Amino acid sequence: MHPTEKPIYVTQPFLPPLEEFQPYLEKIWESKWLTNGGPFHQELEKKLADYLGVEQIALFSNGTLALVTALQALRITGEVITTPFSFVATAHSLLWNCIKPVFVDIDPETFNLDPEKIEAAITPHTTAILPVHVYGKPCNVERIQKIADTYGLKVIYDAAHAFGVRYKGEGLLKHGDLSILSFHATKVFNTFEGGAIICPDAKTKKRIDDLKNFGFADEVTVVAPGINAKMNELQAAFGLLQLKHVDKAIERRREIDAQYREQLSLVKGITCPPLPVDTIYNHAYFPILVEKDYSLSRDGLYEKLRQNGVFGRRYFYPLISDFPMYRGLPSAAQTNLIVAKKVADRVLCLPIYPLLTDNDFQRVVSLIAGEK
Ligand SMILES: *Cc1c(COP(=O)(O)O)cnc(C)c1O
Repeated sequence: MHPTEKPIYVTQPFLPPLEEFQPYLEKIWESKWLTNGGPFHQELEKKLADYLGVEQIALFSNGTLALVTALQALRITGEVITTPFSFVATAHSLLWNCIKPVFVDIDPETFNLDPEKIEAAITPHTTAILPVHVYGKPCNVERIQKIADTYGLKVIYDAAHAFGVRYKGEGLLKHGDLSILSFHATKVFNTFEGGAIICPDAKTKKRIDDLKNFGFADEVTVVAPGINAKMNELQAAFGLLQLKHVDKAIERRREIDAQYREQLSLVKGITCPPLPVDTIYNHAYFPILVEKDYSLSRDGLYEKLRQNGVFGRRYFYPLISDFPMYRGLPSAAQTNLIVAKKVADRVLCLPIYPLLTDNDFQRVVSLIAGEK
């Protein structure tokens, strides 16, 4: 790396100008309401439900606790069908609820859970399906719902990547019994740390709100061994500010995505998985596949980029099913997850974020094209 060049990470959080946050801070200092469903929390819930085109949303301190609570809210037990090609929190949320994950292979086009392979994994213990909209690209929600209806299963989407995605003219997060979001600093919309559960009705939201506050249903009634997973007012205030900028931020991501596609189409051995169909996409990630006819292996390219200050990420390698707490499961066998293994060995996510400069973008592309 040239000494004057700054490292380029796979993502950089979007921070609005600092002075725009000042008025929010003053209000918090004035009200002295710091957490427990304060005014900014209430406002963010309303504005997000509107923005995302969903009925109800319950805010959380992070996405992982939202996942754990979603499973608890629907009283999921036994076995749950999920994907190995995700961030480890997806499967961890099952273990936190003493549920057995059952891994099913992914679709070679979308890298999402392959609906054609779900039915074979259903047993009398199966109670739910936990798919992930990987990179924010929609799962085959129609097919998954049909299977769930046939077998009487719940569907909880890990939609951590899918903020703002619209599918066939509607909010993607409407699908399934529940969807969860992450507002971690690395995600398209962030509240430093944060998350949410999307649910269809006020009654379910009440149960979720109770569960994220120790199980308190009112001042003197505790209905379940709930956790403390409340979003605080600082996070909510930052979310409100961020929401004002998020459309612009996604627009800039869209431009970068288009430029990568154009410039990388000329590089032999690099393929860009297609954009999702019928979708207004959020361009949360830009994965490429490093094919056999590229001049370096995937890890070779990953290392070359690192040595030049470009920190791509191999999302998702290793597969969740390869971590020690999962690899003993029968469904974790490599022969069960052939597509996932192949993708995990070839994928590399490139830097994409609203403040990525043209200059830095060109540095990334030139390195991949072998020009330096
Ligand atoms: C980020 C992420 C999570 C966890 O969210 P946190 O807010 O970091 O707890 C869960 N699932 C997926 C797929 C993620 O990418």
